[in-house]
Amino acid sequence: MYAEMAPNPELVTHRGGCHCGRVRFEVDAPARLDVLDCNCSICRLTGFLHLIVPASAFRLLSGESELSEYRFGTGVARHLFCRVCGIKSFYIPRSHPDGVDVNVRALQRETIAAITSTAFDGEHWEQGAAQLPASAGGWNDERG
Ligand SMILES: [Zn+2]
Repeated sequence: MYAEMAPNPELVTHRGGCHCGRVRFEVDAPARLDVLDCNCSICRLTGFLHLIVPASAFRLLSGESELSEYRFGTGVARHLFCRVCGIKSFYIPRSHPDGVDVNVRALQRETIAAITSTAFDGEHWEQGAAQLPASAGGWNDERG
């Protein structure tokens, strides 16, 4: 799916956050979003729709002190959720520990032109991860 994207799609600034509004962020991404729908043990429970971006494209505006962290398995992924309302609006993923994985369900709809969802077989993570783009977000990360 990422191979079919334009190399440098025009980016817009999406805004999102948790349910109670304490955690708020901005993320630069295309208006037409390619997202991953993962079936692993935790994503299945949360319904998380993945938009993986370079850390440079993500800005946490508020709520850092409200974030709780949950780790399991390999402990690489940092699952972050608002300790007040419990919503996981973004986290640091195992596949791209130098990037940020945003929950598209936590974004405001106004800036989203379209969402194309692709199933990711996170239940068999090692096989599925080989199909992920090497660069977070599918466009060139200037940081390498
Ligand atoms: Zn909250």
